[in-house]
Amino acid sequence: MKLLLDFEPCKECKTMMSELSSPEIIFGDEKTRSDESAKFLRHLTYNHNEVVQAVMEDLPKQKKDQEPDFYQ
Ligand SMILES: [Zn+2]
Repeated sequence: MKLLLDFEPCKECKTMMSELSSPEIIFGDEKTRSDESAKFLRHLTYNHNEVVQAVMEDLPKQKKDQEPDFYQ
């Protein structure tokens, strides 16, 4: 979640972020986790587009560091 530190989360963001870090989600199954992340991402896309832009710009850089084979 460190990518999202640079923006001002609205009330909905805070709710979703605490849901995402709740034990039900963290220890939940993969589908639950991906549903919740998708919900949060959708909210970001519609309400905080500048964050999504920043994340997208940051993503390839991080991917490359973590997964050197990704681009091969
Ligand atoms: Zn929000």
